[in-house]
Amino acid sequence: MSCKECTDYLPPFKHFATDAIHFGQKPEQWSSWAVVPPITLSATFKQEAPGVNKGYTYTRSGNPSRHVLEKVMTALDGAKHGLAYSSGMAAILNICYLLKPGDAIVCIDDVYSGTRELFDKLEKDYNIKVRYVDCTDLKLLEAAIASDTKLVWLESPTNPTLKVIDIKACADVAHKYKDVLVAVDNSLMSPYFQRPLSLGADICMSSATKYINGHCDVLMGLVSVNRDDLYESLKHLQSRLGAVPSPFDCYMCNRGLKTLHIRMKLHFKNGLAVAKFLEFHSRVEKVLYPGLPFHPQHEVMKKQCTGVSGILSFYIKGTKDNAFAFLENLKVFTLAYNLGGYESLAEHPATMTHASVPKEIREKLGITDTLIRLSVGLEDEEDLLADLDQALKAAFA
Ligand SMILES: *Cc1c(COP(=O)(O)O)cnc(C)c1O
Repeated sequence: MSCKECTDYLPPFKHFATDAIHFGQKPEQWSSWAVVPPITLSATFKQEAPGVNKGYTYTRSGNPSRHVLEKVMTALDGAKHGLAYSSGMAAILNICYLLKPGDAIVCIDDVYSGTRELFDKLEKDYNIKVRYVDCTDLKLLEAAIASDTKLVWLESPTNPTLKVIDIKACADVAHKYKDVLVAVDNSLMSPYFQRPLSLGADICMSSATKYINGHCDVLMGLVSVNRDDLYESLKHLQSRLGAVPSPFDCYMCNRGLKTLHIRMKLHFKNGLAVAKFLEFHSRVEKVLYPGLPFHPQHEVMKKQCTGVSGILSFYIKGTKDNAFAFLENLKVFTLAYNLGGYESLAEHPATMTHASVPKEIREKLGITDTLIRLSVGLEDEEDLLADLDQALKAAFA
């Protein structure tokens, strides 16, 4: 399953697979010695005496099935503490509750569209300033940080234009200023390929809906931190805001984790094969994929990641009509929102995931009518390439 170009990165994180399978999951901790962690559906827990319990009171504050997931994620993110939420957006909202009116956020310009909509709402209605910057330029980042900045929000690679930023360099710039928290949205990479906390971030946030669960059947958000004070604040908010995942979803997500390392290797291999195929296709203008050597931040990718995921974008030649015809002719790839699952998906960011981004900002970021985003899944490589080839031909018929 390995390929030559897939080994040119940081070495894989030690014990990753063993931890994903075993960390915090010893059967002896359950009375049944069940090998698979049991699902605890109970919303409430018997108390030994008023104020005395076995560690649980009420499921919004803590649940054994959620605890297993939060624990294993600490090992995978290389963190001290983990927290799970009912979606990626819920995790981001909880982090935003660390801010007060008058505070400011500095955010990477090519941010996930849902995050942008939330930040814009905070700016409009809650007196939180948001400054968007191209964080590939550290001078721009530094210029955007002011005395009111409390949070620097980063993503790498970005979506859908696959810009890569140097997380360590950005965190170093931000941490020159007191009380600035650096958060990294790691959804597109998963902890198998990138560990933001070890690159200097204070908060690692992931939409587990994507690669971590990986099967397109759970919505979930995860947060990892090292600082105890930060954990206590977030833990309090997690229970107070109440956007916690169900015990069943926690079970599902923990199950997905067991194969994360295998899936990511194949996403990388298939993603690279698709990128290389499209790169030389006569109907393709340009491919955006940080695993290709000519990508402007390919070297940054190699020094901060252990590999590249299966998300890539490309500009089709022609017009929006050709882009739509291509998407409508795909047979193995499904035209759908979402990314990071075992199945290959394709979408048109300008009319789908990024329709809410104002047109002039879209154009500035390169989200044009001919841009197509792919989430390359785990199907057979030859079927994926043949599907893309026939749909590209049909798009110009
Ligand atoms: C999907 C996604 C989110 C939001 O996660 P949900 O689980 O859909 O709420 C946040 N950031 C990125 C980069 C995403 O891809």
